Amino acid sequence: MRRQIPARLPIGTTIAEAREVSLELGGTPILDGVSLSVRTGEVLALVGPNGAGKSTLLSVLSGDHAPDRGEVFLGGEPLPHWSPVETAMRRAVMLQQATISFPFSVADIVAMGRSPWYGTPRAEDDENAVRAALETADITEFRERVFSSLSGGERARVSLARALAQEAQLLFLDEPTAALDLHHQEAVLQLARESAAADDAVVVVVHDLNLAAGYADRVAVLSHGKIVADGNPRNVLTAELLTEVYRHPVEVWPHPATGAPVILPRR
Ligand code: ADP
Ligand code: MG
Repeated sequence: MRRQIPARLPIGTTIAEAREVSLELGGTPILDGVSLSVRTGEVLALVGPNGAGKSTLLSVLSGDHAPDRGEVFLGGEPLPHWSPVETAMRRAVMLQQATISFPFSVADIVAMGRSPWYGTPRAEDDENAVRAALETADITEFRERVFSSLSGGERARVSLARALAQEAQLLFLDEPTAALDLHHQEAVLQLARESAAADDAVVVVVHDLNLAAGYADRVAVLSHGKIVADGNPRNVLTAELLTEVYRHPVEVWPHPATGAPVILPRR
C-alpha cells in the first residue's frame, strides 16, 4: 500500500476544494455546479434547508462519493490521486448517522480513528490520541460501555471522538450538534474554533444559525444543490437571504455586545 504521510499545511492554505461539482442521484440533480474551498485555520459552517445537499457535498469533498462532473482537490492534489489510506490521513469525517452493529466498546470505536496511521511512526501516538479524544468529547466515563447502550447525544460524541482521534488536519462534521444539549453544542463549536486556531480546517454542518454566526469564520449557504452565499457570517446571514432560503420570515439583529448576527424566526 502506498502511503505518503502528509506534512502539516501552513495556516491559510487551501486544503480542500470543489470546482464546479455536479452530482445526480436517482436521476435528480443533488449538487449543481458547486465550487467551495476550505482553508486551514478556518471554521467553515455549511448551512441550508433539509435536502439541500449538505451531506452529499461533504461526501464529495471527503472522497466518499465521486462527482459526475467537476473536480475535487485535497491537500493540493486531485482527490483521486490519493489512496484511501492517504485520504484518511488528510481528512476525518463525522457522519450524520453513525450505525455500528457489532457490540464494540466506546474505546474500540474511538481507536478505529487511528487506523490510517497503522504501521507508520505516528502509530506511537495512538494511545495519547485516543485518550485526548475521549477527554475532549467528554466521554471518558463511557470508555468501556457498548456503543449501542448509549443515548443519541452520547453516540454523537463517540463519533466525534473517533474523528478527532484520527488527527487529520481537515475535519468534516455533519450535524455534530443535532442530538446535543446546550453545553455540549457549545463545546463542539468551541473545539472547532480551537482546532482552527491550531491550523486545522473544520467544515461543520449546523442547523442552528446562531451557532454558525457565533463560531464560524465563514458561512456557506446551500440551497437546492447550489451555493447561494459564501462569506463572512455578518454578510451572509441576512434577513433577506435566510427568509428566502428557509421559506419562513427571519429577523436578524446585531448582538448588543459583539455585533454578531442573532437570528430569530418570526413567530
Ligand atoms: P442535506 O444533508 O442537505 O439534508 P443530503 O445531501 O442528505 O441533504 O440530500 C440531498 C438530496 O439528495 C435529498 O433530497 C435526498 O433525498 C437526496 N438523495 C440523497 N441520496 C440519494 C440517493 N441515493 N438517491 C436519490 N436521492 C438521494
Ligand atoms: Mg445531511
